[in-house]
Amino acid sequence: MYRQMSITQLLQKLTPATMAEVKPYTRSTLTAIEDYARLDAMEAPYTFQDLPDSLQQKWLDTIKHTEANRYPPQLSQVAINKLYKFLNLPEGMGFIPGNGSDEIIMLLMLLCGTARGGKVLSPSPSFSMYGHLTKALGGEFIEVDLENDFTLDLNKFAQAIKEHKPQLVFLAQPNNPTGNLFSNEAVKLAAELLSDSGLVVVDRAYEFFLKELDVSGDYTKQANVVNLYTLSKIGLAGLRFGFAATGGEIIHELSKLRLPYNINSLTCASIEVMADNLDCFRKHADNIITNRDELISELEKLDGIQIFPSSTNFILLRLLGGSSAECFKYLQQHKVLVKDFDGYHHLMQNCLRVSIGKPEENTLFLKNLSAYLGLQTNS
Ligand code: PMP
Repeated sequence: MYRQMSITQLLQKLTPATMAEVKPYTRSTLTAIEDYARLDAMEAPYTFQDLPDSLQQKWLDTIKHTEANRYPPQLSQVAINKLYKFLNLPEGMGFIPGNGSDEIIMLLMLLCGTARGGKVLSPSPSFSMYGHLTKALGGEFIEVDLENDFTLDLNKFAQAIKEHKPQLVFLAQPNNPTGNLFSNEAVKLAAELLSDSGLVVVDRAYEFFLKELDVSGDYTKQANVVNLYTLSKIGLAGLRFGFAATGGEIIHELSKLRLPYNINSLTCASIEVMADNLDCFRKHADNIITNRDELISELEKLDGIQIFPSSTNFILLRLLGGSSAECFKYLQQHKVLVKDFDGYHHLMQNCLRVSIGKPEENTLFLKNLSAYLGLQTNS
């Protein structure tokens, strides 16, 4: 008889110590949420029925002819070229698709030695997956705190890069969950400081919601810069499709780590159709920009909150003199889901993030937030 070690002890032995710091990612636990205004996950509010009839039909026909019995095909170069044109990327730039851009974040970490104790650096607060995956893989996560107004102090950023020499830097441009855009100078600085020691990932998940793209000091083609994109925020989150655009050699190495067929047939077929209809998604993103700006101007009329500038499809706000957890609960009771960031980071006390929905959803949020704030002042 051998004595079996407890599975807890065994797993502790097998996994990196930093893994204990992370929790599995879970979605909202509410079940019947169809009748809620779902403003918690930066999804686009537009559904299949909001697409033009001809596109709906074309999509259905394509899905009907997809061969689920076969392994998935590769996305065609024609579709990639269309995506690149839409995003103002040079046609010859390398491409690798991911099952969401999350997957590419992990591939980049595997490439750059995060699982061998490598270092990953990012401004903080930023997208949770940068820290989550670094720790789950056994790497060291270095956070450069943003200022109180969520701007990035370039001196502090440069100092941290010089001190820690990370193999990977992530810059969400614009940033999640704060909503603001860092200066292009930050990317240039990181790329130069790491020119012989690391990669800089510019995560452009929210770029569609910038009013104007600042192309001055274009850094997209810098050899150690990887541009990360996702179609999740403009209406296709359920398809799980993201990609990296960068030089051929980086793509070649990343391709060795990519699992075969990481993009399933239905997604691949759908992206082929969507690549021909990107203007429709541009229109939806433009609507979101308009609705965001309208919601901001309404929020500015309310007392008791601080609103942070947004270049994204969400708005971050802080409850002044109130509890975001309580407000979150109140909104939820009134069928509005937002995200409470209290406790996430010391700079985010009493902060709520609300994604931009359809006008009626934004109105429901506004109405209930203002009712909550009214109750606070009267109590
Ligand atoms: N980057 C940023 C900055 C994000 O906020 C998100 C999603 N919240 C992602 C990447 C991942 O997007 P997806 O995996 O859906 O492509």
